Amino acid sequence: MGDIASEGPSKKKCLGVDCDNDAEALQCPTCLKLGMKDGFFCSQDCFKKSWTEHKTVHKTAQGKTQDGILRKIIPPKVVSEPDPVTGLYNPFPTYSFTGSVRPVYPLSPMRTLPKSIRRPDWSETGIPKAERRLNRMKIDILDAEGQEAMRKVCRLAREVLDITAAEVRPGITTDHLDEVCHKACVERDAYPSPLNYNHFPKSLCTSPNEVVCHGIPDQRILLDGDIVNLDISIYHGGYHADLNETYYVGDRARADPDSVRVVETTRECLDMAIELVKPGTLLRDFGKVIEKHANSRNCAVHTTWGGHGINTEFHPPPWIPHYGKSKVPGVCKPGMTFTIEPILTLGKPREVYWPDEWTNVTVDGKRTAQFEHTLLVTETGVEVLTARLDNSPGGPIPIPTTDNGNSA
Ligand SMILES: [Zn+2]
Ligand SMILES: [Zn+2]
Repeated sequence: MGDIASEGPSKKKCLGVDCDNDAEALQCPTCLKLGMKDGFFCSQDCFKKSWTEHKTVHKTAQGKTQDGILRKIIPPKVVSEPDPVTGLYNPFPTYSFTGSVRPVYPLSPMRTLPKSIRRPDWSETGIPKAERRLNRMKIDILDAEGQEAMRKVCRLAREVLDITAAEVRPGITTDHLDEVCHKACVERDAYPSPLNYNHFPKSLCTSPNEVVCHGIPDQRILLDGDIVNLDISIYHGGYHADLNETYYVGDRARADPDSVRVVETTRECLDMAIELVKPGTLLRDFGKVIEKHANSRNCAVHTTWGGHGINTEFHPPPWIPHYGKSKVPGVCKPGMTFTIEPILTLGKPREVYWPDEWTNVTVDGKRTAQFEHTLLVTETGVEVLTARLDNSPGGPIPIPTTDNGNSA
């Protein structure tokens, strides 16, 4: 679906919600003012109907998360003085951050891809139109051909994650990881699914320490003692793959009992949930084992974020909770593909957003970890389509004991 690259550059699509028409020369005046050249609609009517949803685009443009051109047109209201030597700055100097991680701008310009790479529908407009139109009750079952396509894209996604994760060490920036991920996608004829998805500006999500998820790669340097989640999603052959892992940055992180406790417990929670996957398992059962194991290690489960279906669409139904007392309907059936991706925290499982409207952090600044796989339900059980390879970076380590000899 949504092979927009084949439509050619001259035929713009109407941005209207649920509208498939080609756009006329009618442009949103606010978009024009903001220097955005993509605000085309098919009619005045369609523009009016779509206004409530469309206007969020303007907010994002003003949210300082866009490329350098936009930032020149609308300078952010409050900016700290860029460092005279490096030019780096904190775009939200008056925001009260909950932990120690800070955004370090400027973001690098949005990365580009060869025209030949097949794109999802949001690559040009920033809006996942087909995905928003899906019937949220209908769970797709893939035939043999679809399953084979999922195997392929998931294997490529594993390669991209491993190549990117091999770069994790103290002193490199998350923007560098984004560059490595982007290049690895291009080399595999794949589109990095996050790029321009609801206007996300980068090709992967990098979430250090108290960042729960959806961190934007920027000029922040990874520090010895950080933990960082790399969330990779790619689109190839008309299908999406999605996986993530949390990595230790340097030896200090590996020696910190609390960091290792949250990381390893989350890894184990995902593995325990995957063991349940087979035809007949209720989708609400994964959360029970995840929450139980998390609590046994004095960790808490974030309930805002869940796993999701994944196939020709990035986030189709079902939605999969990671907490115990859920009433979500749905049963595993052969041919279903979905993700499980628990997020655990050392503190309160509540989140707030940075002003970039993407970076989701814990309210108390405590650290979180996440692991994710894309799974295929088979006739007898499960195939972990994004499984680790023998030489994958990262992997489990023992939880260090604290001074009093107890396991942390
Ligand atoms: Zn993911
Ligand atoms: Zn996901």
